[in-house]
Amino acid sequence: MTKITMKTPIVELDGDEMTRILWAKIKEKLILPFVDLKSIYYDLGLPNREETKDAVTVEAAEAIKKYGVGVKCATITPNASRVKEYNLSQMWKSPNGTIRSRLDGTVFRAPIMVKGLKVLMPTWTQPIVIARHAYGDVYSGVEGYVPDGGAVVLKFPDGTEKTVFDFKGPGIVQAMHNTDKSITSFARSCMNYALDVKKDLWFNAKDTISKIYDHRFKDIFNEIYEKEYKERFEKAGITYFYTLIDDAVSRIMKSNGGMIWACKNYDGDVMSDMVATVFGSLAMMTSVLVSPDGKYEYEAAHGTVTRHYYKYLQGEQTSTNPIATIYAWTGALRKRGELDGLKELSDFADRLEKACLDTITDGIMTKDLLPNYEGEGKAVTSDEFLDAIVAHIAK
Ligand code: NAP
Ligand code: MG
Repeated sequence: MTKITMKTPIVELDGDEMTRILWAKIKEKLILPFVDLKSIYYDLGLPNREETKDAVTVEAAEAIKKYGVGVKCATITPNASRVKEYNLSQMWKSPNGTIRSRLDGTVFRAPIMVKGLKVLMPTWTQPIVIARHAYGDVYSGVEGYVPDGGAVVLKFPDGTEKTVFDFKGPGIVQAMHNTDKSITSFARSCMNYALDVKKDLWFNAKDTISKIYDHRFKDIFNEIYEKEYKERFEKAGITYFYTLIDDAVSRIMKSNGGMIWACKNYDGDVMSDMVATVFGSLAMMTSVLVSPDGKYEYEAAHGTVTRHYYKYLQGEQTSTNPIATIYAWTGALRKRGELDGLKELSDFADRLEKACLDTITDGIMTKDLLPNYEGEGKAVTSDEFLDAIVAHIAK
């Protein structure tokens, strides 16, 4: 069989633990036999981040900016116990955080739905994609306890002052911020992505209560939509819809899904966990970082599956689900194919995804999926599962 040739490379970011083991197997069994892979490889495994003083993460982010498409394996975000385990010289920052801030991007999380796997909300027949604004608000809030009462006052650069509250006894106070720049980037990322996947875009805030703060989000989204996207949305047959957050929640519950749900930081934190739970598991959730100028980084939404890795190190054959990591690869290859006009490459991504879904629908899956499977399913090891997918590609 002749392999599909690529024009432009994709940027490949290797990672840690069990997902690193799966990464190599996915390439060996599902990608390299079919595609003459062109990739620029960066090892973001924790030992190499330590070795390069984390320069490798920055270089990888810059490469994604240059080439436009990246695929990333899950990585360890070090904490105190990892510093000991890996003998680190410092607690390196989250690679995802570093890459996200360099690309100024928004993360879109989409569930992978499979015939035969049940969804807890029977009316949600199509995936709901969550876009969380990952900057500011309460996550970089400044807060304090006021033990003995007194007035807390906000002072603005122009000298005006606003009293937050004049406490008569002990209480608490919080201040938070966001920037026009970040909200604007968020709006553009969401609108680009909606056009990309041709799905309706929903956005919500509480502008009736928060007449300046949340209202600013609403106004910026509206302005960007009217000025830059309205025509393209109409041409693509999709809509932009703003409503209050509580109204949105109620409408989404009653809907059939199928929309991109853009959320402010806190709303996205909460709602993404709800949506992920309804659609099954993190192992069936993909994630793509989209920058406002159209650069893409695909990954799985789950972590490095440490518990399985320790079993693997003891010689056990684990049943770790590779689907979200495979979809990171297909997402990147499809996008590369689209950008380079290589239909063959995009078609291969479709074919590989279909082989994954068919394998599960036929009853062969990893252990985590079995409780949600509606027929007589069989749990197999990751290796057996990958081999079954290979057999389905050939069909
Ligand atoms: P995790 O790796 O997502 O795993 C948590 C648990 O979820 C696993 O123990 C497993 O449950 C289940 N699970 C997750 N993915 C699975 C898969 N593909 N197949 C089967 N089961 C799966 O989260 P964590 O244990 O909290 O974090 C481990 C490391 O990942 C941490 O060092 C963290 O920093 C890192 N992390 C990285 C990213 C990223 O790079 N994007 C994201 C999150 C976390 P059972 O053990 O019950 O089978
Ligand atoms: Mg959360």
